[in-house]
Amino acid sequence: MLLVVGQINSSNDQLKTTNKIEVMAKEEILECSFCGRKKAETDLLIAGLDAHICDKCIEQAHSIVVEEVSDGKSDTLSSEVVLKKPIEIKTFIDQYMIGQTNSKRVMAVAVYNHYKRLLQKDTTDEEDEVEIEKSNIIIVGETGTGKTLIARTIARMLNVPFCIVDATVLTEAGYVGEDVETILTRLLQAADYNVEKAERGIVFIDEVDKIARKGDNPSITRDVSGEGVQQALLKLLEGTVVNVPPKGGRKHPDQKFIEVNTKNILFVAGGAFSGIDRIISKRLNRQAVGYSASISDDKIDEENLLQYVVPTDLKSFGLIPEIIGRLPVLTHMDPLDEKTLRAILTEPKNSIIKQYVKLFEMDGIDFTIEKNALNYIVNKAVEYKLGARGLRSLCEAILTDAMFEMPGSDIKELHVNEEYARAKISKSKIKKLKAVS
Ligand code: ADP
Repeated sequence: MLLVVGQINSSNDQLKTTNKIEVMAKEEILECSFCGRKKAETDLLIAGLDAHICDKCIEQAHSIVVEEVSDGKSDTLSSEVVLKKPIEIKTFIDQYMIGQTNSKRVMAVAVYNHYKRLLQKDTTDEEDEVEIEKSNIIIVGETGTGKTLIARTIARMLNVPFCIVDATVLTEAGYVGEDVETILTRLLQAADYNVEKAERGIVFIDEVDKIARKGDNPSITRDVSGEGVQQALLKLLEGTVVNVPPKGGRKHPDQKFIEVNTKNILFVAGGAFSGIDRIISKRLNRQAVGYSASISDDKIDEENLLQYVVPTDLKSFGLIPEIIGRLPVLTHMDPLDEKTLRAILTEPKNSIIKQYVKLFEMDGIDFTIEKNALNYIVNKAVEYKLGARGLRSLCEAILTDAMFEMPGSDIKELHVNEEYARAKISKSKIKKLKAVS
């Protein structure tokens, strides 16, 4: 048995052990001021200014504190998650994103249902409640069509932590690369290590197509970055308690793991699935000549085959059925045509051009750009097959000289016309991108 008698120093809360002799003298009258146990019946008795508390009462008090604090926290968290109706969600996304109507609608509904499920969990624990399942999402769309943007915009609206992880760096546990648990390290970081907040966040898994099964015969070589990762992801997507290394990776073997429950984390997976159009086309043609005449009645839009994507196409591509089952909401991104690209340049709330106007404004420079110059940028993005991502690189190539030379100079106006844009592009390295694409 251990007897420690100390004093809680009211000024700095530090425990100070008192003189042993004094302790012995007071021993007979010492008892816990909360439960009345004599000091002989306790393992530990701590003295305050004029009261004592035993180890049992400390434990009990601690659990009350933990309970109260976590109750309070979930209240604030659920009120922090601003649940908007699907139409409002879409209207919000519209401010930042052009087109992609179908995806916006599908995502708005999935997100709405996901957070409804979450709020339901908060308010009731009754066993006979209908349990709403997770609505994890998978988006198929060419690179630069806004897959990340839509997930990021939704997270911004909901005020929940958001992180992007690249599926290509993941490998099966024990192989060179990152374990799937590190996905949650990112989310924890985005939530400032507030576990409860992280547990309601959104994770965007980019390039999910890169973990497709490498071939039909997995036994030839171990597929540690393909099917192996898909297997490892299963539990995470469904909902489980994961031991997360807070600093990530395997470089810090001594770190203490943090337990994160993925039950309420919304996973959005995105990928270009390059070549899936051929799978879709084959399937559609087969259907057209087969029993189902429905597709042959409608004309197939060969320019946008992704709109016909169904889960079996993902399976043919190399995702295992279990993964497809855990990403039940499937949607696609339309390819960006010239009109959409042109709108992306100027219309969204924080469009690329608006950002440059702001940047120049901060140096007292009035920046304007002619319509012809904007059209020229769009044409180049299409020609170089750079998509929306290329718009930014092209603008950067056109404006870098001005952004370097003008701040601090006497020139307070920059007017960009097509000729100016053409001249800057032709001397920039961006032309080399054409060869890469
Ligand atoms: P993905 O994840 O599909 O590869 P991103 O979401 O990263 O593409 O988009 C690349 C860039 O293009 C981002 O800067 C994004 O803001 C812009 N962008 C793409 N699609 C759109 C769109 N429909 N509306 C507005 N901006 C877009």
